[in-house]
Amino acid sequence: MLVVFLLLVSACKKVAITGRKQVTLIKESELVVMSDQEYRKFLSQNKVIKGTKDAERVQRIGKQIADAVEHYYRRNKLDAKIKDFAWEFNLVQDSLVNAWCMPGGKVVFYTGILPICEDDDGLAVVMGHEVAHAVAQHGNERMSQGMMAQLGAAALSVATTSQPEQTQNLFMQAYGAGAQLGVLLPFSRKHETEADRLGLVFMAMAGFNPDKAPAFWERMSALSGGKEPPVFISSHPNSKTRVADLKAYIPVAKKYAAEYAQP
Ligand SMILES: [Zn+2]
Repeated sequence: MLVVFLLLVSACKKVAITGRKQVTLIKESELVVMSDQEYRKFLSQNKVIKGTKDAERVQRIGKQIADAVEHYYRRNKLDAKIKDFAWEFNLVQDSLVNAWCMPGGKVVFYTGILPICEDDDGLAVVMGHEVAHAVAQHGNERMSQGMMAQLGAAALSVATTSQPEQTQNLFMQAYGAGAQLGVLLPFSRKHETEADRLGLVFMAMAGFNPDKAPAFWERMSALSGGKEPPVFISSHPNSKTRVADLKAYIPVAKKYAAEYAQP
C-alpha cells in the first residue's frame, strides 16, 4: 500500500500558473510521438491551406504565443515540462467552427472559426485556450484517469514501466482521427476553466489584448442560439459563468503580462 501511495505521489504534479495538482501517468515523450503520427495523418487527409494571409496569421499568432509560453517556462525553470514540444500551426479548409491542439503543440485551426475570431486578438483567444490544454497536459491527465479506471492500482505501475498498448488505445480514443480530433475530446469543466485562464495569461504575455476574450466567447455563445450549435461550443461549456470568470481573471493575466512580456 505504501508503494502505491509513493507512486501516486511521484505521479502527482502541479500545473504551472494555476498551481492545481494533477496526476499524469503517461510519459509526455510517448504522447508526443503518438500525436505526431496522428497529426501527420490528419493533415494528409484534410485540405491544409498554405501561403494565404489567414494561414500566415495562424502561424504567426501561434508562434508568438508558443514563444511566450516557452519564455515563461524557462524563466521559472519549468521547461522540462515542455521539452518534447515541437510546435506546428496549420489552417485547414473546413466550415467547422473549431480548433484544437494535440499534446506536443500540434495545432489545427479550421477556416470556419476565423470569422468568429474577427481579428488577431480573437484568434489569440482561441490559440491561447487550445495551447493551454496542451501545455497543462489535460490530455495526459484525462488518459491517466481512464487508465486508473480501467486498471485500478495496477495503472500506477505505468508511472515507472510504460504500457505502450494501453497508452496507445487511450490515445486513440481521445485523439484518433476516427474520433474526430478535438471534437470528441470534451474536456471537463475544470479543464475548460483552467484553459480559459491560462489562455488569457498566454495571449497577454504574447502581447495580445485579453480584454477581447469575453466578447469572443459571447460571439461563440450567440452562434449556438442558431439551429445547430457549432461543434466548438458544444464541446466547450458556454455560459454567463464562463464570461464572468474570464472577466475576473483579466487583471491576473495583465499582471503576468507585465512581468513576462516578450521583449
Ligand atoms: Zn477547451
